[in-house]
Amino acid sequence: MTAPAPRPRIDTSQAHPARVYDWLLGGKDNYPVDEAVGVKLPPEARDAARQNREFMHRASAWLASQGVDQFLDVGTGIPTSPNLHQIVQRVVPAAKVVYTDNDPIVLRHAEALLVSTPEGATDYIQADVRDPKTILEHARTILDFDRPIALSLIALMHFISDEQEPYDIVSTLVGALPSGSHLVLSHASSDIFPELSDQVTAEYAKGGIKLGFRTREGVTRFLEGLEPVEPGLVTAPEWFRDGDAPEAEPSGIYAVVARKP
Ligand code: SAH
Repeated sequence: MTAPAPRPRIDTSQAHPARVYDWLLGGKDNYPVDEAVGVKLPPEARDAARQNREFMHRASAWLASQGVDQFLDVGTGIPTSPNLHQIVQRVVPAAKVVYTDNDPIVLRHAEALLVSTPEGATDYIQADVRDPKTILEHARTILDFDRPIALSLIALMHFISDEQEPYDIVSTLVGALPSGSHLVLSHASSDIFPELSDQVTAEYAKGGIKLGFRTREGVTRFLEGLEPVEPGLVTAPEWFRDGDAPEAEPSGIYAVVARKP
């Protein structure tokens, strides 16, 4: 018999990105330190979190409707229904989803991410995106890297500063994917509403969380060698493919789905 896995240690003395985001979405898996950051943010931050989540829904559903049945989601966040696997398995019941996050609170809630359809599979690995090789090594045990994979980095890369080599990280992950794969990326902008961006960055910094929002040019650099699909790199509420257009609203979140040729 194997020993039970140690319970992940949740540090409630300091705010964490996953928990502040949960607070912004109206979730309950956050602590007073996280709420203390959240309440200081401008109301637009809550809109941004919702817009980001809705982009994840639309982009994942569209990819599944295109027959994509393998997903690697890095920076998954605390489970918030519907999660990515629920969205894609509704369209493709046999879809396989590998989730990754580095926050122990996501590990603690991972059970909610592991309820798969019988035909499909879901898995969770506790890992840091700054160690892409470990993520890939594990993903290879579940996903077939000879067939297209959708890699999602949704509201993740603005937590990785330029000194942490975000472009190399993304290029290592994308480099491992076969032709016909997609990158689904969203990223907070520093240039759409610069004042709001500075305000949000300053409030997170007070909570001990370093954010590096990027300009359109900085976000475009993540797409090197990839072909953005329609409608290209737009704001989150502007990204849609099928059905009714989402309601038009201002947004400081860049969103894009790009195909690896
Ligand atoms: N992708 C989800 C959650 C976004 S919140 C969504 O869009 O709805 C950002 C997530 O990235 C948090 O869960 C946080 O824990 C995770 N994260 C931040 N830095 C990370 C890192 N270095 N490695 C892995 N995950 C990270």
